Amino acid sequence: MRIRKSLPMVLALGAMPLAAFAQQSATSSKLEIVDKIVAQERAEVQSLRQYSPLVETYIQNLRPDKLQRVVLDTDKYFLGRAHLAKGVELEPLIHSAGNKRKIFGGLQNLFSMEYVPRGFLQMIFLDENGFDRQHYNFEYIHREFLGEVRCLVFDVDPLVKGQKGRFVGRIWVEDQDYHIVRFNGNYNGSSRTSYYFNFDSWRQNAGNNQWLPTFIYSEEGNGQNAPTKNVAPQAFRAQTRLWGYALGHIQEEQELSKILVETPVKDQNAANDFSPIQAQRSWSRLAEDNVAISLERLGLMAPHGDVDKVLETVVNNLEVTNNLDIDPEVRCRVLMTSTLESFTMGHTIVVSRGLVDVLPDEGSLAAILAHELGHVVLGHRMDTQFAFFSRLRFDEKETFHHFGFARTPEEEQAANQKGIELLMQSPYKDQSRTAQLFLQALESRSKEIPNLISPHLGDRVPTTWAITSAVSGAQPSAATPAAPAANVVVALPLGGRVKVEPWNDELQLLKSKPLGAVAEYEKMPFEVAPFVLYLTRQGDHSSAETPSAVSAKSDTDSKP
Ligand SMILES: [Zn+2]
Repeated sequence: MRIRKSLPMVLALGAMPLAAFAQQSATSSKLEIVDKIVAQERAEVQSLRQYSPLVETYIQNLRPDKLQRVVLDTDKYFLGRAHLAKGVELEPLIHSAGNKRKIFGGLQNLFSMEYVPRGFLQMIFLDENGFDRQHYNFEYIHREFLGEVRCLVFDVDPLVKGQKGRFVGRIWVEDQDYHIVRFNGNYNGSSRTSYYFNFDSWRQNAGNNQWLPTFIYSEEGNGQNAPTKNVAPQAFRAQTRLWGYALGHIQEEQELSKILVETPVKDQNAANDFSPIQAQRSWSRLAEDNVAISLERLGLMAPHGDVDKVLETVVNNLEVTNNLDIDPEVRCRVLMTSTLESFTMGHTIVVSRGLVDVLPDEGSLAAILAHELGHVVLGHRMDTQFAFFSRLRFDEKETFHHFGFARTPEEEQAANQKGIELLMQSPYKDQSRTAQLFLQALESRSKEIPNLISPHLGDRVPTTWAITSAVSGAQPSAATPAAPAANVVVALPLGGRVKVEPWNDELQLLKSKPLGAVAEYEKMPFEVAPFVLYLTRQGDHSSAETPSAVSAKSDTDSKP
C-alpha cells in the first residue's frame, strides 16, 4: 500500500499503540485530509467568483536556429479584465490590429491552436467539475516548504484515464487550512482541435485565510524541433499574471478612514493666494493626479510606494548634481504592466514594471530617468484637460485610447539630448556603458519581441539613443561600445526585480541572494523564465517583512 507513506499528520500525533490500528487510522486520516482539501478547493472556486482581477499573458515563441540552438521567434501579449463571477470570462483591454486580433479569434474553441487568453486563465482552476475522491486518486509524496509556508505534497491523477479536462500532476497544500497553493501539471485530453499546455499555477495569501491565483508559468515543447502541423503548437514559454483583486474596495475604505482620523488643519501662512503661474502649476498637477488616480483605480498603476521611492532617489541625484530646482517636485510612479515603456505627464515620471524588471543596474535606470527628466526640464506638457473631472469618466475598455502620453519624434530627440546633458553632470556619468549595452541588447532583440516593446500609454525605450559617445566625449562614430564582457549581464529576464502584491497592487523589490557566476545560457535577457514564489502568510510576517524595514532598506540601498 502506498498509503503508508502518507502519514506525516498522523505521525505527528504521536503514540499509536497497535500497528494495525495505526494503519487503519492513517488511512482514514488521509481520507479526511483529502476531503478537507477538496472542500477547501470548492470554497476557493466559489470565493473567487466575487473578483475581477486584471490578467496579463505574455507568450514568447521559440524556434531552432541554423545551429539547432533554441532562440526566440516572436511574441504575443494580452491584457484584460477577468470576470470570475462568469467563470473564465475575459474582457480585453487592448485592441490592436493584425497579429493580436488572432488571439481573440477562437474564443468558443477554448484551447485552440491559436493562443486563447481564456485558456491561460483556465489554469487558475484545478478542475471545476469534480475535483474529489470520486474522480481522482491522491498519493501523498512528502512535506515541503514553499517559502515560509509548510505544505503537504500530493500527486493527483484522474481515476478514469484520458478523461478530457481532468488535471494530472502535483499539488501543494498548506498544512493549516488545506488550501491548494500551487499545482503543477496539465489537463488530460489534448486532441487535434484542442491542446492543453503544461503549467505551474501559484496562489498567494492575501490575509483573511484567502489564497488568490497570481502567477502561471506555462511551457510547451523545447523549441528544438519545428512544429508539426495540427499535432502540437510551436514551442513557447508564457507567463500569466493576475493582480488587482481588491480594486475599488480598499482605496475607498482607506480614503474614508483617513477622513475619519484627520483633524482639519488650517494653513496659518499669510500668503494663501495663488498667482496665475502658481495656479497654472497647480492645475497641471491636478491633471497629473487625476490620471494617476484613474490608472491606480483600474489596477494599471501601483499605489505610491517603495519602488517609486527608489526611482525618486535616482531622479533626485540627477537634479541635485545638475542644480535643478523643479517646482512642483518631480515624482515617479510605476505602471503595472510587463511591456517596456516610460513617459512623463507633467512632472510625474512613469516607468513600467516590466522595464524596471529588466534594467541591469542603477546606471541604466538613471539613463531612462534622465531621458524622462529631459522632458520635464524642456517643459514638454501634458493634456491638462484631465484636470476636468468630466474627462475622467470613461469606459474601462477605452483606457488606452482615452489616455496617451507618447511624444513626437522631435520631443523624443530633444529629451535624448537633454538626458545626455543631465547624465554628464551626474554621478551616473561613469555607468553610461551598461545603459548603452542595455539599449543595444534591446535594439538587437526588438524583432523577436515586438509586443513586449509596444507601449500602451507612453514611448518605446529609445534603443538607438547613443549615450556613451556623448558622455565620454568620444567621436560619434564610436557610439557602439565593444561587445559586453562574458561576465556582464546586459538585461535581466522578465520579472527579475519587482514583486507584486496581488491584493492591493503594492510593489516591492525582490530580495534574492546575489548569484555567483551566471552562465551565458542562463542570462535570458528580456525572456520569460519560470517563477518560484516565496510564499508567506499575511499577518504572520516576521519583523524582516514589515513595511518600515523594507523602506529603510530601499532608502539606504538605492540600487534597484
Ligand atoms: Zn521620451
